Amino acid sequence: MATLKFAVLPGDGIGPEVMDAALGVLQAACRKDGDELSYKICDVGGAAIDSCGKALPESTVEQCRNSDAILFGSVGGPKWENLPPNEQPERAALLPLRKIFKLFANIRPGLLYPQLTDASPLKSERIPEGIDIVCIRELTGGIYFGEKKTFEIDGEPAACDTMMYRKSEIERIADVAGKTAMARGKKVCSIDKANVLETSVLWRKTVTEFFKKNYPEVELSYMYVDNAAMQLARNPNQFDVFFTENMFGDILSDEMAVICGSLGMLCSASLGDIKNSLGLKFGLYEPAGGTAPDIAGKGIANPCAQILSAALMMRYSFGEDAIATKIENAVRNAVCGGIRTGDIAFGKTPVSTDEMAKAVIERL
Ligand code: NAD
Repeated sequence: MATLKFAVLPGDGIGPEVMDAALGVLQAACRKDGDELSYKICDVGGAAIDSCGKALPESTVEQCRNSDAILFGSVGGPKWENLPPNEQPERAALLPLRKIFKLFANIRPGLLYPQLTDASPLKSERIPEGIDIVCIRELTGGIYFGEKKTFEIDGEPAACDTMMYRKSEIERIADVAGKTAMARGKKVCSIDKANVLETSVLWRKTVTEFFKKNYPEVELSYMYVDNAAMQLARNPNQFDVFFTENMFGDILSDEMAVICGSLGMLCSASLGDIKNSLGLKFGLYEPAGGTAPDIAGKGIANPCAQILSAALMMRYSFGEDAIATKIENAVRNAVCGGIRTGDIAFGKTPVSTDEMAKAVIERL
């Protein structure tokens, strides 16, 4: 029996609704194995701005520091859209959390069950088996974090952003990709723009040497990012695991989300090198989607992405692979058995957020 200590940051919009559902599933899944959940719910995002004037209060950061993982909902919404950019919930809460906990690797499984191919904008005949791939994005380097300047050239406004990577930053994300590939099909694609960018030339050289030395069993291939964007839409299952730098990953992970159907089904894990009190990776786990203001408060949001994010937390931060798999199978059985929230209903009578969670619990 273990005590699993994590911070719960539901955030705004549908965040608290889907978080309730995920906590119910976690309780039920862990009860059977005798694990005890120890968590504290903390304000973050717009909710925190309203309660204490700051999107990421110090008390929330402190609670995260005293935990082994963070289960995150989503933040933001129309109410806070007119705040200055650096006070907006996403920028002022999520980015600092990634920075504080050095979460440099974002792992996003792109999973579409064969029974849900209608949810994808791709033709069903292109993906008869559904989709099952993993996108790994470097999260704390590259152009988003390099030096930025605005200036004038010949009296005309100009601006520049700098893309920079160090070899060690490339090696550590390659290592995450290597480990992920070893646990799946031992096949990985590194995506870059080595025909144009110096950072990509270094990326490719480093990745080649790193895999040769550390993951000789993994089949490594390369693709330019523009081609990768096309190939993802043409035949996503040609990839198994792909990994790339921050901005390319930002774009490709969203493309992957859309071809996998509803944002309500997609989970993610952000990991770093910080070890938690169990000697495992500290991580932040969150759904791919946002706060869905159009359906917030109606009790109809799809909780599966949040539930599956909780499963990833069990796997990576608590080493509870069996519980993670049990939760993942229960979600699959519920959805493939025809229990559907509105976003994935396609002619079936939609269930509520709570009913979906109940259906998952029944199938654990
Ligand atoms: P969104 O992901 O919130 O919504 C896009 C569409 O997907 C909407 O139609 C929504 O109803 C649907 N959707 C998303 N999650 C769903 C779920 N679980 N079940 C059913 N349908 C779901 O994106 P948006 O509308 O661009 O952004 C809304 C707000 O969320 C903005 O303030 C944005 O800044 C914020 N946001 C936050 C995060 C985050 O916290 N990580 C990520 C993206 C957007």
